[in-house]
Amino acid sequence: MDCIFCKIVKGEIPCAKLYEDKNVLSFLDIGPINKGHALVIPKKHYVTIIDTPDDVLKDLVTATKKVTKAVKLATGVEGVNNLLNNGKASGQAVFHAHMHIIPRFEGDDFKFPWPAKKYGAGEMEEMRKNIVKLI
Ligand code: 5GP
Ligand code: ZN
Repeated sequence: MDCIFCKIVKGEIPCAKLYEDKNVLSFLDIGPINKGHALVIPKKHYVTIIDTPDDVLKDLVTATKKVTKAVKLATGVEGVNNLLNNGKASGQAVFHAHMHIIPRFEGDDFKFPWPAKKYGAGEMEEMRKNIVKLI
């Protein structure tokens, strides 16, 4: 694969590396929401969480925990978002799976919470059934 994150894994594009192990690599995001914003990626090319094998995902989550702790201590923030976008409609711009580690402070300009919608009568149960049968 020739994607930008594969090039980072191969060392063809530089990155500010934070951590790596057999399956995953972590580095600072080049366009941070807040300074210290980091990414954790599988070393192999998978597009979304759904494509990524379970053993790789386990390492990705373990690395996310390690890096999240270090980012939080290094930046002194009170909160951190761990966020993984799957597909263009969700905001994914780089189609190589990656977990965001986003340091957060009160009053920053990253907008949470989201505007919550409401279910109509019976809709939530119908949705629950439709999802459960596919798990
Ligand atoms: P997405 O929107 O796909 O979830 O997030 C992609 C992220 O990758 C963005 O936050 C963007 O700033 C970051 N990014 C894109 N290209 C590069 C790059 O070449 N190096 C680094 N370090 N981050 C990148
Ligand atoms: Zn890739």
